[in-house]
Amino acid sequence: MHSSRLLLDSGSGGKASHRLIKDFFLQHFGNATLNRLDDAALLEISGPVAMSTDSFTVTPLFFPGGDIGSLAVNGTVNDVAMLGALPRFLSCAFILEEGLEMDVLERIVRSMAQAADRAQVQIVTGDTKVVPKGAVDKIFINTTGIGEILVQPHPQGHRARPGDAVLVSGTMGDHGLTILATREGLSFDAPVASDCAGLGHLVGELLEAVPEIHVLRDPTRGGLATTLNEIVMQSGVGCLIQENMVPVNPVVSAGCSFLGLDPLYLANEGKLICILPEQFAKQALTILGKNEFGTKAACIGRIIDTHPGRVVLQTPLGGHRLLDMLEGEQLPRIC
Ligand code: MG
Repeated sequence: MHSSRLLLDSGSGGKASHRLIKDFFLQHFGNATLNRLDDAALLEISGPVAMSTDSFTVTPLFFPGGDIGSLAVNGTVNDVAMLGALPRFLSCAFILEEGLEMDVLERIVRSMAQAADRAQVQIVTGDTKVVPKGAVDKIFINTTGIGEILVQPHPQGHRARPGDAVLVSGTMGDHGLTILATREGLSFDAPVASDCAGLGHLVGELLEAVPEIHVLRDPTRGGLATTLNEIVMQSGVGCLIQENMVPVNPVVSAGCSFLGLDPLYLANEGKLICILPEQFAKQALTILGKNEFGTKAACIGRIIDTHPGRVVLQTPLGGHRLLDMLEGEQLPRIC
């Protein structure tokens, strides 16, 4: 009864769209709220709420470690979590190209359902548009997430203070290099894979155990260097990073030297930066180390009261250089 390719009719709002929603999306995403198919989702949520939205246009659609579906769920889950929130609900909107293979769509939707399940978030409302061939490249996905703030005061970008320790939850640059390598058909001595993962649980564990966390941020597009620059500008402080303390997967490091890229500017999709008072750094590292997504966590530097708005990198030989924001786009359509 179904065509193996998506027809323009499926986004018409008529019978064909209803079939797509009922037989397909509800089958994978179904839950009591979504199944009602009302114009809007009715949610029970209390206290302050964190909300974030993101659109996903990554190419290729599938890559080692993830796909556009898992990325669309985890990317938004992570942005919500970084405010110190427990991600609860997602909306999800698809813009689909006429002629898209239904089994490609099914793989992506399955992957989204799995990622949502793992992150314990519910997809409660959505939208599907099908546009004529050529009007979009296969599939774009927008997700919006909301979550309940877990602690007060909660982590925010302007709260970094001189003396704070700067931690990262693991190796830098894995996602960026994987997308580039997959797109260009490059292979290295060892396989690379995206770190795409939902960090909601990890953030929950940190907030429960550590008395005070000033900033949480996921270093996605523009990588560690760009995200740290955003934080120091928001907080009006400086940051000193020890280059040799930043964990980088050896194959990513080798791939980056080969391609002339810097892993500190490459995107991550399952990592966080945690900035907190120095006396709690050890405790936070222990919590991170016990979680599957934090086994390579490390303290990479500290917040300083000199060089406000700047990130200074100390090289292994003791020299210093400014770690600027990424200029322009290093790699388009990476998420
Ligand atoms: Mg973010």
